[in-house]
Amino acid sequence: MTGYDKIALPAFVNVKRNYMKKSADNKKIANSKGEEIYLRDAIALAEKNASGTQGGPFGAVIVSGDRIIARGVNTVTSENDPTAHAEVNAIREACKKLNSFTLKECTLYTSCEPCPMCLSAAYWAGIGRIYYAASREDAHNAGFSDSFIYDQICLLPGERDVEMEQLLEEEGRKPFEEWQANNRRVEY
Ligand SMILES: [Zn+2]
Repeated sequence: MTGYDKIALPAFVNVKRNYMKKSADNKKIANSKGEEIYLRDAIALAEKNASGTQGGPFGAVIVSGDRIIARGVNTVTSENDPTAHAEVNAIREACKKLNSFTLKECTLYTSCEPCPMCLSAAYWAGIGRIYYAASREDAHNAGFSDSFIYDQICLLPGERDVEMEQLLEEEGRKPFEEWQANNRRVEY
């Protein structure tokens, strides 16, 4: 059950469904010991965090080759930072350690299926593979709104709970023009 089945789907969601099918296939073939060891590390971090006061019950590990580059736990409540999810914290730490804004050679192991923000962060970081343990439904059952946000993303902007309205489109394009004219820009 993905949650996508419950609502009318925009056409692009079929792409997502195919991606999810691909992920499921990958999961079946990639079940070797090494991956499970790193994933258990992420789960152990989540369990430890669950019994403390730092934040939610989530842990993540970033691996390059056979080396753990960074570990992260959820620190939302202790840092008053709604973006301080385990995966985002681990991505920030890994980028700092590697002194790079991309993690192209890295794999993300996370105790729970990444929420849309963390999945996006993984895309922005260029991470090509993610292993996760618990599902978004498990997170939902524990009181976390990952599943709700995934459902919201599938809606058209005007149908979402967050009200969105476009204003000043032409003025908003100016930074892009300035960016494209900037010879010193570092593309990513
Ligand atoms: Zn997240």
